[in-house]
Amino acid sequence: MIEDEPTIAAAVAARLRAEGFDVEIASDGLGGVALCQRLRPDLVVLDLMLPGLDGLEVCRRIQRDRQVPVLMLTAKDSETDLEVGLGVGADDYLTKPFSPRELVARVRAVLRRSEASRDGEATRNGELIRVGDVLLDVPRMRAEVAGRRVELTPTEFQLLATLAAQPGRIFTRSQLLDAIHGVAFESYERAI
Ligand code: CA
Repeated sequence: MIEDEPTIAAAVAARLRAEGFDVEIASDGLGGVALCQRLRPDLVVLDLMLPGLDGLEVCRRIQRDRQVPVLMLTAKDSETDLEVGLGVGADDYLTKPFSPRELVARVRAVLRRSEASRDGEATRNGELIRVGDVLLDVPRMRAEVAGRRVELTPTEFQLLATLAAQPGRIFTRSQLLDAIHGVAFESYERAI
């Protein structure tokens, strides 16, 4: 947590610790960036208004080398600040004053979302593959996007499942052909 107001930092940290999170606090921007580099946290609660380096700059710096989820705290209910905050990579924001309970709920929600769409990872739950809004039921060859069924040919489904199982990976043509082994080459060509 990067927050310069000790009472807020202490209250939030106490609540998060009570919920089972490990919490470390930095009270200014530069200290926060250093703490993030040292700890590599799962999530950062970041105050927008900080002495020295403001929250937006801190957000940019801590995300320079990796995508860490950020929940931004702001005293200003100004759309511009929020848009800028979300634009530099904050995942969500809370406007002060907020209840510690609300903060814990947001922290959990941001962690869930980031785990589901983490760079290079698909969640495989049995025979289900989920990437963002896409849900693939592999044995039944059923595809849904945001809860809506999408009709795909078997070849299209196999290609999508192969790609979705390893987001970010680059496949060669022959690797895709191997992956859809069993599906006729002609239908593969048609799908492409
Ligand atoms: Ca502040």
